[in-house]
Amino acid sequence: MNQSNKKNLEFIMNSGINYFLQDSPRIWFDSVSNSSSSTIEYENEDKTNKIQNIIKKIHSHDSQLKKGAKNLVVYDGSLDSKVMFIGEAPGRDEDALGLPFVGKAGRLFNKMLEAINLKRDEVYITNVVNWRPPENRTPNDKEILEFLPFLQEQIDVVNPDFIFLLGGVAAKAILSTPLSLGKLRGSWHEYQSLKTNKKIYTIASYHPAFLLRSPEYKKLSWEDLQMLQKKLNEQK
Ligand code: URA
Repeated sequence: MNQSNKKNLEFIMNSGINYFLQDSPRIWFDSVSNSSSSTIEYENEDKTNKIQNIIKKIHSHDSQLKKGAKNLVVYDGSLDSKVMFIGEAPGRDEDALGLPFVGKAGRLFNKMLEAINLKRDEVYITNVVNWRPPENRTPNDKEILEFLPFLQEQIDVVNPDFIFLLGGVAAKAILSTPLSLGKLRGSWHEYQSLKTNKKIYTIASYHPAFLLRSPEYKKLSWEDLQMLQKKLNEQK
């Protein structure tokens, strides 16, 4: 095994991942004891510091994707949000500005939020992969796994009650399944947080860039958004 593979494998194993692709949605991890030293560390820092530390870690992580990108793209929105939206990877506009979902797909995403009475600054928005892949290609499985521990850490820090997965890459990463969105969408799944063991209601739906290309799927996307809105209203 070459050194960079070894480093990657250690990185993945340290994140607690046991499985990757399988034929049904499933939680990534065995339960982790709440008494781990990292949990204590988490309690003592405030969210902003914790996220800044994750950003520093991503920045210093030696990724092939970093070489072709301009800016690191981690998150936009609120660290106190009950809802976390997870996309795929930055595109050209996001790479230029260092923020997720600010291009054409981002404008549709903003409208999707507005449709269920949410604003960008009250939700947490991020991606599976934090550097723009060359030519905007879809991140491959190795890249998804490479960045997944950082995403899991963000979930633990933000501690949302709901996760809304935008597109197949986010669904594959978080639900650990190759099932199509057609099969996954329309029902709630569960993501179990790595450090806190909290179970988070998770829904997978279509990516805004896909909806721009295939507007006939907007109706189904709307149904999924309404499922989220209903749960949020039930909490009020
Ligand atoms: N597509 C994504 O998945 N994420 C972005 O931030 C922009 C486009």
